[in-house]
Amino acid sequence: MKIDLSIYSLIVISTSGGKDSLCTIIETVREARRQNVGHRVICVNCDTGADWPDAEDVVKKQCSALSIPLYVVRPNISIPDYIEKRGMFPSMKCRFCTRLKTGAIDKFIRNLYPAKMESKILSVTGERREESPHRQKLADFEPHQILTAGKRQVFHYRPILEWNLNKVWQTIRESGIKPHPAYEEYGNERLSCALCVFGCEKDLRNGAKVRPDLAERYLAVEQRTGFTFRHGQSLRNILTGNE
Ligand code: SF4
Repeated sequence: MKIDLSIYSLIVISTSGGKDSLCTIIETVREARRQNVGHRVICVNCDTGADWPDAEDVVKKQCSALSIPLYVVRPNISIPDYIEKRGMFPSMKCRFCTRLKTGAIDKFIRNLYPAKMESKILSVTGERREESPHRQKLADFEPHQILTAGKRQVFHYRPILEWNLNKVWQTIRESGIKPHPAYEEYGNERLSCALCVFGCEKDLRNGAKVRPDLAERYLAVEQRTGFTFRHGQSLRNILTGNE
């Protein structure tokens, strides 16, 4: 789906530094430049406190390769601090980690364009349908219910929703921009928080290698509360290979 980007005062791409985020930036910037509105594109990265150690650096390099301004935001409380405070881990039913992340980006947009200011903003994210049953149902374009208020109109655009994995990697190869080393050096499937409750076991073991501090904190929460990292599966067992 191609949309008219020229009607937006600001085009904000949320990026984690992962492969899908990178393709979202490449695709959006390409189309925005074709429509002569490349100067209205910015990227926002949320430092969750649970990221791969060099995530921000990688995002900076990717945005700089495409000459796009980058803003880094932080939630009021980091994901690991929240997990420690609540004594529980995120789950499908209670995905507080995502809310912390998107909440920080939403706040950034609200501050840039208060509701009393007339504006039309496009919020761009990199979900792909093939990733999960939930994502299969997403719309590629829709009004942003949370951010639209007063004179501020916000729309949500997902330009790579229909892309498959081959297209993602092919686009990255053709761009010449380096993806996050987690993929090539560590063989990760996904790049997300270093220890994501939805990550595969290999990604979690890689995450614990690069963020032993985070693994220690999560293991301590398991020990203190008796709650496991995933329903019926402790992080300790995942990391030690015990089932
Ligand atoms: S990557 Fe995983 S842990 Fe991090 S915010 Fe997303 S769902 Fe939550």
